Amino acid sequence: MPPPVSSARTPAVRDVIVVGAGPAGATAARVAAESGRRTLLLERAVIPRYKTCGGGLIGAALAALPPGLPLKVYDTAGRFTFALDGRKERTLICSSPTVALVYRSELDAALTEAAAAAGAEVQDDTAVTGLEEEDGIVTVRTNRGDAFRARSVVGADGSASRVSRYVGVECAQVDLALEVEVPVDERAAGRWRGRVLMEWGPLPGSFGWVFPKGDVCTAGVVAARGNPVALRAYKDDFLRRQGLVGPRPLHDTGHLTRCRRPDSPLARGRVLVAGDAAALVDHWSREGISYALRSGDLAGRAAARIADAAGAEATAAADRYARQVEEVLGAEMRASDSLMRLFSRNPGLVHTALTRVPAMWRRLDAYVAGRTSVAGIMTSPLGRTAVALGDRVPLGRQRTPAGETTSAR
Ligand SMILES: Cc1cc2nc3c(=O)[nH]c(=O)nc-3n(C[C@H](O)[C@H](O)[C@H](O)COP(=O)(O)OP(=O)(O)OC[C@H]3O[C@@H](n4cnc5c(N)ncnc54)[C@H](O)[C@@H]3O)c2cc1C
Repeated sequence: MPPPVSSARTPAVRDVIVVGAGPAGATAARVAAESGRRTLLLERAVIPRYKTCGGGLIGAALAALPPGLPLKVYDTAGRFTFALDGRKERTLICSSPTVALVYRSELDAALTEAAAAAGAEVQDDTAVTGLEEEDGIVTVRTNRGDAFRARSVVGADGSASRVSRYVGVECAQVDLALEVEVPVDERAAGRWRGRVLMEWGPLPGSFGWVFPKGDVCTAGVVAARGNPVALRAYKDDFLRRQGLVGPRPLHDTGHLTRCRRPDSPLARGRVLVAGDAAALVDHWSREGISYALRSGDLAGRAAARIADAAGAEATAAADRYARQVEEVLGAEMRASDSLMRLFSRNPGLVHTALTRVPAMWRRLDAYVAGRTSVAGIMTSPLGRTAVALGDRVPLGRQRTPAGETTSAR
Protein backbone atom coordinates (compact mmCIF):
# COMPACT_ATOMS: atom_id res chain seq x y z
CA MET A 1 0.00 0.00 0.00
CA PRO A 2 1.49 3.41 -0.84
CA PRO A 3 1.71 5.57 2.28
CA PRO A 4 -1.14 8.06 2.61
CA VAL A 5 -0.08 11.42 1.24
CA SER A 6 0.02 14.51 3.44
CA SER A 7 -2.11 17.48 2.47
CA ALA A 8 -0.19 20.48 1.13
CA ARG A 9 -2.14 22.82 3.43
CA THR A 10 -0.37 23.08 6.75
CA PRO A 11 -2.17 25.40 9.15
CA ALA A 12 0.00 26.93 11.84
CA VAL A 13 -2.15 25.52 14.66
CA ARG A 14 -4.07 22.33 14.04
CA ASP A 15 -7.10 21.28 16.02
CA VAL A 16 -5.88 17.76 16.83
CA ILE A 17 -2.55 15.92 16.59
CA VAL A 18 -2.60 12.15 17.08
CA VAL A 19 0.65 10.33 17.90
CA GLY A 20 0.83 6.72 16.65
CA ALA A 21 -1.10 5.04 13.83
CA GLY A 22 -2.11 1.77 15.51
CA PRO A 23 -5.79 0.92 16.04
CA ALA A 24 -6.15 3.56 18.80
CA GLY A 25 -4.45 6.42 16.94
CA ALA A 26 -5.85 5.72 13.48
CA THR A 27 -9.34 5.56 15.00
CA ALA A 28 -8.89 8.76 17.02
CA ALA A 29 -7.59 10.57 13.91
CA ARG A 30 -10.48 9.31 11.75
CA VAL A 31 -13.11 10.32 14.32
CA ALA A 32 -11.58 13.78 14.87
CA ALA A 33 -11.29 14.37 11.10
CA GLU A 34 -14.85 13.16 10.50
CA SER A 35 -16.03 15.80 12.97
CA GLY A 36 -14.44 18.43 10.73
CA ARG A 37 -11.36 19.15 12.87
CA ARG A 38 -7.95 19.74 11.21
CA THR A 39 -6.17 16.60 12.24
CA LEU A 40 -2.57 15.42 11.83
CA LEU A 41 -1.63 11.78 12.46
CA LEU A 42 2.10 11.21 13.13
CA GLU A 43 3.57 7.70 12.94
CA ARG A 44 7.16 6.71 13.75
CA ALA A 45 7.32 3.76 11.33
CA VAL A 46 6.79 3.61 7.59
CA ILE A 47 3.23 2.41 6.93
CA PRO A 48 2.48 -0.48 6.57
CA ARG A 49 4.59 -1.56 9.54
CA TYR A 50 4.98 -4.86 11.41
CA LYS A 51 3.53 -5.07 14.94
CA THR A 52 4.13 -7.96 17.34
CA CYS A 53 0.57 -9.17 17.86
CA GLY A 54 -1.57 -12.29 17.44
CA GLY A 55 -3.93 -10.29 15.24
CA GLY A 56 -6.96 -12.01 16.79
CA LEU A 57 -10.07 -9.83 16.59
CA ILE A 58 -12.78 -10.80 19.09
CA GLY A 59 -16.41 -9.70 18.68
CA ALA A 60 -15.92 -6.45 20.62
CA ALA A 61 -13.05 -5.48 18.28
CA LEU A 62 -14.95 -6.41 15.13
CA ALA A 63 -17.94 -4.34 16.31
CA ALA A 64 -15.68 -1.32 16.84
CA LEU A 65 -14.18 -1.32 13.31
CA PRO A 66 -15.47 1.31 10.89
CA PRO A 67 -18.22 -0.19 8.70
CA GLY A 68 -16.98 -1.53 5.36
CA LEU A 69 -13.26 -1.44 6.30
CA PRO A 70 -11.44 -3.41 3.57
CA LEU A 71 -9.56 -6.10 5.49
CA LYS A 72 -8.36 -9.58 4.57
CA VAL A 73 -9.24 -12.20 7.19
CA TYR A 74 -6.87 -15.20 6.93
CA ASP A 75 -8.90 -17.55 9.13
CA THR A 76 -11.83 -17.45 11.54
CA ALA A 77 -11.67 -19.57 14.68
CA GLY A 78 -14.68 -21.77 15.33
CA ARG A 79 -12.90 -24.10 17.78
CA PHE A 80 -10.79 -23.47 20.87
CA THR A 81 -8.34 -26.04 22.18
CA PHE A 82 -7.47 -25.47 25.85
CA ALA A 83 -4.55 -27.20 27.58
CA LEU A 84 -2.99 -27.00 31.04
CA ASP A 85 0.80 -26.98 30.91
CA GLY A 86 0.79 -29.37 27.92
CA ARG A 87 -1.78 -31.73 29.44
CA LYS A 88 -5.57 -32.14 29.70
CA GLU A 89 -6.13 -30.90 26.14
CA ARG A 90 -9.76 -30.36 25.22
CA THR A 91 -11.29 -28.78 22.10
CA LEU A 92 -14.60 -26.90 22.35
CA ILE A 93 -16.79 -25.65 19.52
CA CYS A 94 -17.86 -21.98 19.36
CA SER A 95 -21.56 -21.21 18.83
CA SER A 96 -20.42 -19.39 15.67
CA PRO A 97 -16.91 -18.84 14.24
CA THR A 98 -15.97 -15.37 15.48
CA VAL A 99 -12.32 -14.65 16.17
CA ALA A 100 -11.03 -13.13 12.92
CA LEU A 101 -7.31 -13.67 12.37
CA VAL A 102 -5.60 -10.84 10.53
CA TYR A 103 -2.18 -9.30 10.01
CA ARG A 104 -1.69 -6.17 12.05
CA SER A 105 0.29 -4.49 9.26
CA GLU A 106 -2.83 -4.77 7.07
CA LEU A 107 -5.38 -3.86 9.77
CA ASP A 108 -3.47 -0.77 10.90
CA ALA A 109 -2.79 0.38 7.32
CA ALA A 110 -6.51 0.02 6.49
CA LEU A 111 -7.48 2.02 9.60
CA THR A 112 -4.91 4.69 8.67
CA GLU A 113 -6.30 4.88 5.14
CA ALA A 114 -9.77 5.35 6.63
CA ALA A 115 -8.39 8.25 8.71
CA ALA A 116 -6.81 9.79 5.60
CA ALA A 117 -10.06 9.31 3.65
CA ALA A 118 -11.89 11.18 6.43
CA GLY A 119 -9.52 14.12 5.90
CA ALA A 120 -6.69 13.53 8.39
CA GLU A 121 -3.18 14.41 7.21
CA VAL A 122 -0.91 11.42 7.74
CA GLN A 123 2.84 11.76 8.19
CA ASP A 124 4.68 8.47 8.73
CA ASP A 125 8.42 7.89 9.27
CA THR A 126 8.23 10.62 11.93
CA ALA A 127 8.80 9.95 15.63
CA VAL A 128 7.49 12.31 18.27
CA THR A 129 10.33 13.17 20.64
CA GLY A 130 8.64 15.52 23.09
CA LEU A 131 5.67 17.73 23.84
CA GLU A 132 4.83 20.74 25.97
CA GLU A 133 1.69 22.80 26.60
CA GLU A 134 1.51 26.56 27.00
CA ASP A 135 -1.42 29.00 26.77
CA GLY A 136 -3.85 26.42 25.44
CA ILE A 137 -1.51 25.19 22.68
CA VAL A 138 0.41 21.91 22.69
CA THR A 139 3.71 21.83 20.78
CA VAL A 140 4.72 18.41 19.47
CA ARG A 141 8.38 17.97 18.51
CA THR A 142 9.64 15.28 16.16
CA ASN A 143 12.93 13.61 15.21
CA ARG A 144 12.75 15.54 11.92
CA GLY A 145 13.03 18.86 13.72
CA ASP A 146 9.36 19.82 13.30
CA ALA A 147 7.45 21.64 16.02
CA PHE A 148 3.80 21.01 15.20
CA ARG A 149 1.18 22.87 17.23
CA ALA A 150 -2.37 21.87 18.11
CA ARG A 151 -5.19 22.67 20.52
CA SER A 152 -5.45 19.01 21.50
CA VAL A 153 -3.25 15.91 21.31
CA VAL A 154 -4.04 12.19 21.53
CA GLY A 155 -1.13 9.95 22.52
CA ALA A 156 -1.69 6.52 20.98
CA ASP A 157 1.96 5.54 20.71
CA GLY A 158 1.75 2.08 22.20
CA SER A 159 3.19 0.37 25.26
CA ALA A 160 6.53 2.25 25.23
CA SER A 161 4.65 5.53 24.85
CA ARG A 162 6.39 8.86 25.22
CA VAL A 163 3.03 10.62 25.64
CA SER A 164 2.12 8.14 28.37
CA ARG A 165 5.18 9.29 30.36
CA TYR A 166 4.17 12.94 29.81
CA VAL A 167 0.65 12.20 31.14
CA GLY A 168 2.00 10.06 34.01
CA VAL A 169 0.25 6.74 33.26
CA GLU A 170 0.91 4.16 36.00
CA CYS A 171 0.63 0.41 35.59
CA ALA A 172 -0.61 -2.38 37.84
CA GLN A 173 0.67 -5.18 35.62
CA VAL A 174 3.44 -5.32 33.03
CA ASP A 175 3.96 -8.48 30.99
CA LEU A 176 6.43 -9.60 28.36
CA ALA A 177 5.13 -11.47 25.31
CA LEU A 178 7.40 -13.44 22.97
CA GLU A 179 5.96 -14.30 19.59
CA VAL A 180 6.89 -15.93 16.28
CA GLU A 181 5.24 -16.02 12.88
CA VAL A 182 6.06 -19.36 11.31
CA PRO A 183 5.31 -20.66 7.82
CA VAL A 184 3.54 -24.05 7.97
CA ASP A 185 3.16 -26.77 5.34
CA GLU A 186 -0.22 -27.88 4.01
CA ARG A 187 -0.61 -30.68 6.52
CA ALA A 188 0.05 -28.46 9.51
CA ALA A 189 -2.14 -25.71 8.03
CA GLY A 190 -5.00 -28.23 7.79
CA ARG A 191 -4.45 -29.30 11.41
CA TRP A 192 -4.74 -25.71 12.65
CA ARG A 193 -7.40 -24.39 10.24
CA GLY A 194 -10.35 -22.80 12.10
CA ARG A 195 -8.88 -23.60 15.53
CA VAL A 196 -6.92 -21.61 18.08
CA LEU A 197 -4.93 -23.10 20.95
CA MET A 198 -4.69 -21.54 24.42
CA GLU A 199 -2.37 -23.32 26.83
CA TRP A 200 -2.20 -22.21 30.46
CA GLY A 201 1.54 -22.16 31.12
CA PRO A 202 3.90 -23.08 33.97
CA LEU A 203 4.75 -19.50 35.04
CA PRO A 204 2.22 -17.61 37.18
CA GLY A 205 -0.38 -15.92 34.96
CA SER A 206 1.26 -17.23 31.80
CA PHE A 207 -0.19 -18.79 28.67
CA GLY A 208 0.83 -19.83 25.19
CA TRP A 209 -1.23 -19.52 22.01
CA VAL A 210 -1.31 -20.62 18.39
CA PHE A 211 -3.37 -18.57 15.93
CA PRO A 212 -3.71 -19.97 12.37
CA LYS A 213 -3.50 -17.69 9.32
CA GLY A 214 -3.55 -20.09 6.38
CA ASP A 215 0.04 -20.96 5.50
CA VAL A 216 1.38 -19.13 8.58
CA CYS A 217 0.80 -19.63 12.31
CA THR A 218 1.33 -16.89 14.88
CA ALA A 219 2.38 -18.45 18.17
CA GLY A 220 3.74 -17.10 21.41
CA VAL A 221 3.83 -17.00 25.18
CA VAL A 222 3.22 -14.27 27.75
CA ALA A 223 4.00 -13.90 31.45
CA ALA A 224 4.82 -11.20 33.98
CA ARG A 225 7.94 -9.22 33.01
CA GLY A 226 11.01 -10.03 35.05
CA ASN A 227 11.87 -13.65 34.27
CA PRO A 228 12.93 -13.60 30.60
CA VAL A 229 15.07 -16.76 30.86
CA ALA A 230 12.15 -18.86 32.12
CA LEU A 231 9.80 -17.27 29.57
CA ARG A 232 12.20 -18.04 26.71
CA ALA A 233 12.47 -21.62 27.96
CA TYR A 234 8.67 -21.87 28.03
CA LYS A 235 8.46 -20.45 24.50
CA ASP A 236 11.01 -22.95 23.14
CA ASP A 237 9.27 -25.85 24.86
CA PHE A 238 5.80 -24.69 23.73
CA LEU A 239 6.82 -24.21 20.08
CA ARG A 240 8.57 -27.59 20.02
CA ARG A 241 5.48 -29.34 21.40
CA GLN A 242 3.28 -27.62 18.80
CA GLY A 243 5.60 -28.67 15.97
CA LEU A 244 6.46 -25.05 15.13
CA VAL A 245 10.26 -25.09 15.40
CA GLY A 246 11.38 -26.42 12.02
CA PRO A 247 10.91 -23.55 9.58
CA ARG A 248 12.74 -20.27 10.07
CA PRO A 249 10.24 -17.78 11.56
CA LEU A 250 9.19 -14.83 9.41
CA HIS A 251 9.23 -12.77 12.62
CA ASP A 252 10.61 -13.59 16.07
CA THR A 253 9.97 -10.69 18.43
CA GLY A 254 9.04 -9.59 21.92
CA HIS A 255 6.82 -6.79 23.18
CA LEU A 256 5.50 -5.51 26.52
CA THR A 257 1.83 -5.37 27.42
CA ARG A 258 0.76 -3.04 30.23
CA CYS A 259 -2.40 -2.79 32.33
CA ARG A 260 -3.09 0.53 34.04
CA ARG A 261 -3.75 1.10 37.70
CA PRO A 262 -7.43 1.99 38.16
CA ASP A 263 -6.49 5.50 39.37
CA SER A 264 -3.95 6.14 36.60
CA PRO A 265 -4.50 9.42 34.68
CA LEU A 266 -5.92 9.41 31.14
CA ALA A 267 -5.22 13.07 30.41
CA ARG A 268 -2.96 15.95 31.30
CA GLY A 269 -4.22 19.35 30.23
CA ARG A 270 -5.10 19.11 26.53
CA VAL A 271 -3.27 15.81 26.04
CA LEU A 272 -5.18 12.51 26.18
CA VAL A 273 -3.89 8.93 26.03
CA ALA A 274 -5.65 5.95 24.41
CA GLY A 275 -5.04 2.25 23.76
CA ASP A 276 -1.74 0.74 24.94
CA ALA A 277 -0.42 4.24 25.68
CA ALA A 278 -3.12 4.44 28.36
CA ALA A 279 -2.29 0.82 29.38
CA LEU A 280 -5.82 -0.28 28.47
CA VAL A 281 -5.40 -4.03 28.01
CA ASP A 282 -7.31 -7.03 29.41
CA HIS A 283 -5.36 -8.32 32.44
CA TRP A 284 -6.07 -11.98 31.69
CA SER A 285 -6.16 -12.47 27.90
CA ARG A 286 -3.97 -9.39 27.15
CA GLU A 287 -6.52 -8.59 24.43
CA GLY A 288 -5.97 -4.96 23.54
CA ILE A 289 -7.28 -4.24 20.05
CA SER A 290 -10.90 -3.76 21.16
CA TYR A 291 -9.65 -1.47 23.96
CA ALA A 292 -7.55 0.50 21.47
CA LEU A 293 -10.43 0.91 18.99
CA ARG A 294 -12.96 1.90 21.65
CA SER A 295 -10.69 4.29 23.56
CA GLY A 296 -9.45 5.72 20.24
CA ASP A 297 -13.03 6.53 19.28
CA LEU A 298 -13.72 8.23 22.63
CA ALA A 299 -10.38 10.10 22.47
CA GLY A 300 -11.05 11.37 18.93
CA ARG A 301 -14.40 12.80 20.03
CA ALA A 302 -12.96 14.28 23.22
CA ALA A 303 -9.98 15.83 21.38
CA ALA A 304 -12.40 17.51 18.95
CA ARG A 305 -14.29 19.03 21.89
CA ILE A 306 -11.08 20.12 23.63
CA ALA A 307 -9.87 21.78 20.42
CA ASP A 308 -12.96 24.04 20.47
CA ALA A 309 -12.80 24.78 24.19
CA ALA A 310 -11.00 27.34 26.33
CA GLY A 311 -9.72 27.03 29.90
CA ALA A 312 -12.07 25.20 32.26
CA GLU A 313 -14.19 23.89 29.38
CA ALA A 314 -11.18 22.04 27.97
CA THR A 315 -10.47 20.55 31.39
CA ALA A 316 -14.11 19.46 31.66
CA ALA A 317 -13.91 17.75 28.25
CA ALA A 318 -10.74 15.90 29.29
CA ASP A 319 -12.37 14.85 32.58
CA ARG A 320 -15.39 13.61 30.66
CA TYR A 321 -13.12 11.46 28.47
CA ALA A 322 -11.58 9.91 31.58
CA ARG A 323 -15.04 9.19 33.01
CA GLN A 324 -16.23 7.58 29.76
CA VAL A 325 -13.15 5.33 29.60
CA GLU A 326 -13.63 4.42 33.26
CA GLU A 327 -17.31 3.57 32.82
CA VAL A 328 -16.85 1.25 29.87
CA LEU A 329 -13.26 -0.01 29.82
CA GLY A 330 -12.40 0.53 33.50
CA ALA A 331 -15.21 -1.82 34.53
CA GLU A 332 -13.91 -4.41 32.06
CA MET A 333 -10.38 -4.09 33.38
CA ARG A 334 -11.44 -4.46 37.02
CA ALA A 335 -13.28 -7.67 36.09
CA SER A 336 -10.32 -9.00 34.09
CA ASP A 337 -7.99 -8.16 36.99
CA SER A 338 -10.15 -10.29 39.27
CA LEU A 339 -10.10 -13.12 36.71
CA MET A 340 -6.33 -12.77 36.37
CA ARG A 341 -5.86 -13.05 40.15
CA LEU A 342 -7.93 -16.22 40.18
CA PHE A 343 -6.03 -17.60 37.17
CA SER A 344 -2.58 -16.75 38.57
CA ARG A 345 -3.37 -18.47 41.85
CA ASN A 346 -5.03 -21.47 40.33
CA PRO A 347 -4.84 -22.05 36.56
CA GLY A 348 -6.10 -25.62 37.07
CA LEU A 349 -9.37 -24.33 38.50
CA VAL A 350 -9.89 -21.97 35.54
CA HIS A 351 -9.01 -24.77 33.10
CA THR A 352 -11.42 -27.22 34.73
CA ALA A 353 -14.21 -24.61 34.90
CA LEU A 354 -13.81 -23.77 31.21
CA THR A 355 -13.47 -27.28 29.88
CA ARG A 356 -15.76 -29.21 32.26
CA VAL A 357 -18.55 -26.76 33.13
CA PRO A 358 -20.55 -26.22 29.92
CA ALA A 359 -22.20 -23.04 31.25
CA MET A 360 -18.73 -21.52 31.82
CA TRP A 361 -17.62 -22.26 28.27
CA ARG A 362 -20.90 -20.78 26.98
CA ARG A 363 -20.06 -17.57 28.86
CA LEU A 364 -16.54 -17.39 27.41
CA ASP A 365 -17.91 -18.20 23.96
CA ALA A 366 -20.43 -15.34 24.35
CA TYR A 367 -17.60 -13.00 25.40
CA VAL A 368 -15.45 -13.96 22.41
CA ALA A 369 -18.46 -13.38 20.13
CA GLY A 370 -19.10 -9.96 21.68
CA ARG A 371 -22.41 -10.90 23.33
CA THR A 372 -21.13 -10.36 26.87
CA SER A 373 -18.13 -8.80 28.58
CA VAL A 374 -15.53 -10.05 31.07
CA ALA A 375 -17.50 -8.06 33.66
CA GLY A 376 -20.59 -10.02 32.56
CA ILE A 377 -18.74 -13.29 33.21
CA MET A 378 -17.21 -12.30 36.53
CA THR A 379 -20.44 -10.87 38.02
CA SER A 380 -22.50 -13.92 36.98
CA PRO A 381 -23.27 -16.48 39.72
CA LEU A 382 -20.79 -18.85 38.04
CA GLY A 383 -18.02 -16.24 37.98
CA ARG A 384 -18.62 -15.37 41.64
CA THR A 385 -18.56 -19.04 42.60
CA ALA A 386 -15.24 -19.53 40.78
CA VAL A 387 -13.71 -16.54 42.61
CA ALA A 388 -14.99 -17.82 45.97
CA LEU A 389 -13.60 -21.28 45.24
CA GLY A 390 -10.28 -19.83 44.11
CA ASP A 391 -10.01 -17.87 47.36
CA ARG A 392 -10.40 -21.10 49.33
CA VAL A 393 -7.82 -23.11 47.36
CA PRO A 394 -4.33 -22.63 48.86
CA LEU A 395 -1.73 -20.99 46.66
CA GLY A 396 0.12 -23.65 44.70
CA ARG A 397 3.84 -23.78 44.08
CA GLN A 398 4.27 -23.61 40.34
CA ARG A 399 6.91 -25.23 38.19
CA THR A 400 8.87 -23.12 35.72
CA PRO A 401 10.36 -24.61 32.54
CA ALA A 402 13.82 -24.07 34.00
CA GLY A 403 12.84 -26.35 36.88
CA GLU A 404 12.74 -23.60 39.54
CA THR A 405 9.64 -23.03 41.61
CA THR A 406 7.85 -19.72 41.87
CA SER A 407 5.02 -18.56 44.07
CA ALA A 408 1.83 -17.39 42.37
CA ARG A 409 0.97 -13.69 42.04
C1 LIG B 1 2.61 -10.71 21.43
C2 LIG B 1 1.31 -9.94 21.51
C3 LIG B 1 0.16 -10.52 20.99
C4 LIG B 1 -1.05 -9.84 21.04
N1 LIG B 1 -2.15 -10.40 20.48
C5 LIG B 1 -3.32 -9.74 20.51
C6 LIG B 1 -4.46 -10.30 19.85
O1 LIG B 1 -4.40 -11.35 19.22
N2 LIG B 1 -5.62 -9.60 19.93
C7 LIG B 1 -5.71 -8.40 20.61
O2 LIG B 1 -6.81 -7.83 20.66
N3 LIG B 1 -4.64 -7.84 21.19
C8 LIG B 1 -3.44 -8.47 21.14
N4 LIG B 1 -2.34 -7.87 21.69
C9 LIG B 1 -2.45 -6.51 22.23
C10 LIG B 1 -2.46 -5.50 21.07
O3 LIG B 1 -1.37 -5.75 20.20
C11 LIG B 1 -2.37 -4.06 21.56
O4 LIG B 1 -3.22 -3.88 22.66
C12 LIG B 1 -2.74 -3.07 20.46
O5 LIG B 1 -1.77 -3.10 19.45
C13 LIG B 1 -2.85 -1.64 20.99
O6 LIG B 1 -3.03 -0.75 19.90
P1 LIG B 1 -2.51 0.75 20.00
O7 LIG B 1 -3.03 1.46 18.81
O8 LIG B 1 -2.82 1.31 21.34
O9 LIG B 1 -0.92 0.65 19.99
P2 LIG B 1 0.05 0.05 18.85
O10 LIG B 1 -0.66 -0.91 18.02
O11 LIG B 1 1.28 -0.38 19.56
O12 LIG B 1 0.38 1.32 17.94
C14 LIG B 1 1.21 2.33 18.42
C15 LIG B 1 1.81 3.05 17.23
O13 LIG B 1 2.54 4.19 17.70
C16 LIG B 1 3.75 4.28 16.96
N5 LIG B 1 4.70 5.04 17.78
C17 LIG B 1 5.37 4.59 18.88
N6 LIG B 1 6.13 5.58 19.38
C18 LIG B 1 5.95 6.66 18.58
C19 LIG B 1 6.47 7.99 18.56
N7 LIG B 1 7.35 8.41 19.50
N8 LIG B 1 6.08 8.82 17.59
C20 LIG B 1 5.17 8.41 16.63
N9 LIG B 1 4.66 7.18 16.60
C21 LIG B 1 5.02 6.31 17.56
C22 LIG B 1 4.16 2.83 16.74
O14 LIG B 1 5.06 2.72 15.65
C23 LIG B 1 2.80 2.18 16.46
O15 LIG B 1 2.48 2.19 15.10
C24 LIG B 1 -1.12 -8.54 21.65
C25 LIG B 1 0.04 -7.97 22.17
C26 LIG B 1 1.25 -8.65 22.09
C27 LIG B 1 2.49 -8.00 22.64
